[in-house]
Amino acid sequence: MRNTSSAAVTANYYVTTFYKFLRLEETLRVKSDLEAKAEELNIKGLIIIGSEGFNSTIAAPSEIAFANWKKFIQDYFNQPDLFFKDSTSDKTPFRRFKVKIREEIVTTGIPEIMPPDCKNHHLSPAEWNRVMKEETEEIAIIDTRNWYEYKIGTFKGALNPNIEKFTDFPEYIESQGIPKDKKMLIFCTGGIRCEKGILELQKQGYDNVYQLDGGILNYIKEFPNDQFEGECFVFDHRVALDQNLQPSKQYGLCPHCGQPSEIKVTCKRCDTDELICVECSEVEFKKETCSKNCAHQFQLHPDRKGPRQVVPFEIEKLKLSGAELVPMIQVSKTKVLAVNERGEARVHRI
Ligand SMILES: [Zn+2]
Ligand SMILES: [Zn+2]
Repeated sequence: MRNTSSAAVTANYYVTTFYKFLRLEETLRVKSDLEAKAEELNIKGLIIIGSEGFNSTIAAPSEIAFANWKKFIQDYFNQPDLFFKDSTSDKTPFRRFKVKIREEIVTTGIPEIMPPDCKNHHLSPAEWNRVMKEETEEIAIIDTRNWYEYKIGTFKGALNPNIEKFTDFPEYIESQGIPKDKKMLIFCTGGIRCEKGILELQKQGYDNVYQLDGGILNYIKEFPNDQFEGECFVFDHRVALDQNLQPSKQYGLCPHCGQPSEIKVTCKRCDTDELICVECSEVEFKKETCSKNCAHQFQLHPDRKGPRQVVPFEIEKLKLSGAELVPMIQVSKTKVLAVNERGEARVHRI
């Protein structure tokens, strides 16, 4: 088994990220089989399945359940070499287990392209490091992730496409006019976006493109505090992972907009301490409040105090129906602000 880590023995939750492009049939039956096993092992998390494969991050409550889940996945999909990218968490990064059936297991807007089974210009973390350090002048390193992921951590010298979602990536490349023979290095969180991204680049005529095998999670595991700077955004309640693959101590999720936040404010309405993002810290009413609700109330009645209405990350207390969305923040008694696995922030009723 290829496995990037042995989880720390003190962890409360053992987390792993994995994907595979393969032809999958009878997705409804697969869904119920996965749900049954997850219930048996008390696995929480999200797995997206479709005719092109599966893509997942899950958390297990014990090392035994963790090992059993991985073995089950390897056997069930007949993938003895499946690449698991492990990390840990003290708190549960997911509230429930969810299987979603989708046309694409990573949203690119081009469902017809399917990565080949063989390796397609993958660089191991060691090869990636060598190219970054020795070919600095000749290469373009491109972050294929969204702008808010780039913002809290990326590779030295990486270009920021400044996209809201991955479906905008092909257009970004088209607009750049990069010479077709330029050596390009692309990367993402766990590798899956690049599997499709590289096909798009090859379609556009770029043949000198390389992708980071296993993404940032795999790289940090082997080379912490090296060419990757900052933290790696993840789509669960941990928000980001630091250079030791531990949940971020620096970032929360901004209660106003759902993006990573690091600026501490004490709410003028309810006196709660909260982390808000740089953008919202420059906006009147938002910069002084802990939630959309408090911002609204503070704007109407600047001299009145009110009760705390936002309970970031205390999701356990919420009765969410069909919670497919992570991470999320309660912004009023009836609404939750959530970032879904495609990186889109939306308000949902609960
Ligand atoms: Zn914000
Ligand atoms: Zn408040």
